[in-house]
Amino acid sequence: MQENKIAAICLAAGQGKRMQSKLQKQYLQLKEKPVLFYALNAMQNSSVQEIVLVVGEGEEEYCRKEIVEAYGFSKVKAIVPGGKERYHSVYHGLQALENCEYVLIHDGARPFLTQGILSRCIEGAMKYEACVAGMPVKDTIKLADEHQNIETTPDRSRVWMVQTPQAFRFSLIREAYERLAALEERGEKPSVTVTDDAMVVEYFLQKKVHLVEGSYKNIKITTPEDMKIAEAFFE
Ligand code: C5P
Repeated sequence: MQENKIAAICLAAGQGKRMQSKLQKQYLQLKEKPVLFYALNAMQNSSVQEIVLVVGEGEEEYCRKEIVEAYGFSKVKAIVPGGKERYHSVYHGLQALENCEYVLIHDGARPFLTQGILSRCIEGAMKYEACVAGMPVKDTIKLADEHQNIETTPDRSRVWMVQTPQAFRFSLIREAYERLAALEERGEKPSVTVTDDAMVVEYFLQKKVHLVEGSYKNIKITTPEDMKIAEAFFE
């Protein structure tokens, strides 16, 4: 087994319904390249050794030809189909990996991934076993009840918005996701909606996840306005 092998899972199997576009957001053109190009390019030029690309079912060949081969992403070792929810896609990605020590999980819809963010996540995973990129919030956050009335106001200095990459010791994240999969197989559901990977670790392993500095530019392209913001970042 190779020492300290670092792998990355790049997620691009979302439907992107909020983009209101025929073409999924990860394939839209941003500065003459598909959105997905940028995250893969940052990974290709980092100390990540192996990339698993998770794409929509049936899009594997398109991605191989038009993205992986077209741009020479030689670190992409597997292209696997995703699942219904983001966490299903992550689990498929994890199943395609073996013999690695650390894994970074990143949304392919976040094109402004930098070498700085990647190295902070890798160092964080090595030091803390579980870490996520995030930034302190700028706005005051309210927790609302089911009638849209404010229930509480958390202390803003402790509220972070989390991004990806989320980086882990491989054995730890695999264990957490195996427990989630086992729960689903029994026809049960976790009591919370799983929207990121840190939650799976928090929920199933009660393990502390460290926050490392991401970037306010590390946005996820979700709606048409986000494409405009992303274009402006390139100016
Ligand atoms: O839907 P959302 O914007 O939260 O998706 C975040 C990332 O996860 C995107 O890069 C998307 O392509 C990916 N995803 C996935 N499989 C899903 C849902 C989302 O790979 N079922």
